[in-house]
Amino acid sequence: MSVTHDILEADDSLFGSLLRQDPELAEILLAERRRQSTTLQLIAAENFTSRAVLAALGSPLANKYAEGYPGARHHGGCEIVDVAERLAVERARELFGAEHVNVQSHSGSSAVLAAYAALLRPGDTVLALGLPYGGHLTHGSPANFSGRWFAFVGYGVDAETGLIDYDQVRTLARTHRPKAIVCGSIAYPRHLDYAFFRDVADEVGAYLVADAAHPIGLVAGGAAPSPVPYADVVCATTHKVLRGPRGGMILCGGELAERVDRAVFPFTQGGAQMHTIAAKAVAFGEAATPAYAAYAHQVIANARTLAAHLAAEGLVVTTGGTDTHLITADPAPLGVDGKSARGRLAAAGIVLDCCALPHGDARGLRLGTAALTTQGMGEREMRAVATLLAEVLRGGTDAAAAREDVRDLLVEFPPYPD
Ligand SMILES: *Cc1c(COP(=O)(O)O)cnc(C)c1O
Repeated sequence: MSVTHDILEADDSLFGSLLRQDPELAEILLAERRRQSTTLQLIAAENFTSRAVLAALGSPLANKYAEGYPGARHHGGCEIVDVAERLAVERARELFGAEHVNVQSHSGSSAVLAAYAALLRPGDTVLALGLPYGGHLTHGSPANFSGRWFAFVGYGVDAETGLIDYDQVRTLARTHRPKAIVCGSIAYPRHLDYAFFRDVADEVGAYLVADAAHPIGLVAGGAAPSPVPYADVVCATTHKVLRGPRGGMILCGGELAERVDRAVFPFTQGGAQMHTIAAKAVAFGEAATPAYAAYAHQVIANARTLAAHLAAEGLVVTTGGTDTHLITADPAPLGVDGKSARGRLAAAGIVLDCCALPHGDARGLRLGTAALTTQGMGEREMRAVATLLAEVLRGGTDAAAAREDVRDLLVEFPPYPD
């Protein structure tokens, strides 16, 4: 690929400066950009932001210190970035119908940390989806602050259907009387029954925390049910299906607004990253458009088609399909486990994750359609992806030949069109 036609280099004002000053690092950026352009990005948490989002990220707002909140900062000269943060908050409130939004969380994990800080004391009991079933690290992993500071109880999924065992959720809530119930997952392909979780939380007097890091982008596009009317606090990322910059946010009712804001700053974070907040505002603006709503629906149509064709190729798709952008599947019937499958597929230019499976110890595959759909792929391409993926796993094609097929498929769908 010709370096001179690269999108990054075309922006002479910024990337050109980097290229001249530090070609060693510039070449790393170009190599990563080439990797993204010549392999299939099926990691469920990834997407491609717009140029407008990238422009905000690479802007002089990166140089501004802004501890505190608009109108109440600990630094001078915040009058302009205050406008940016107010705009991000207003757009998010409108987009999600939330009374209050904090857009300062540096990541999804930081948002969850702040939500716990707002609602809980160390040692409190929290009920969340167990890590082997798709709970996030912040849902009680012993390697994470959450598992160290709180007493997590895990609910699970049915080993046969892969669906959340809602009866178990209610039973565990009655037994353990948690201070908070968390719903949300890194790998659950189905919509969550937020009304059910609200009902159980009310019954046992618990807060309901929805960790909607994955589906929040589908919610923004009107393609998935919203947790906002049900949860006391909604934590989310802005960089997954939502297609904004890497970061987090917290949505809640007015009565928790002050506790949530203080839990973010000064309790768990320092200065806000104003370039990221500006980029979040751009992404919220994009997500409010009919084009984005169409995108969110296409993401799901693509995932459903991809899941159906993976199943037709012999993989065992968890829960038999998907409601979202996300699919988990067991490649065992093709004679390979998830861990070695990921490596073989990566060599073939098909990039995805391993994940736990509801049954047994073997690892499965986790994939999502957010990035490919942003590139413009539709259901025809999903069929081609499923066929190629299965062919690689069956050993019917070698890595070099598969990489060529991947490049051919991508010719019409560049992630960074000129
Ligand atoms: C992605 C994710 C997170 C964490 O987001 P980071 O930005 O990586 O910290 C938290 N919870 C869930 C359910 C997620 O899917």
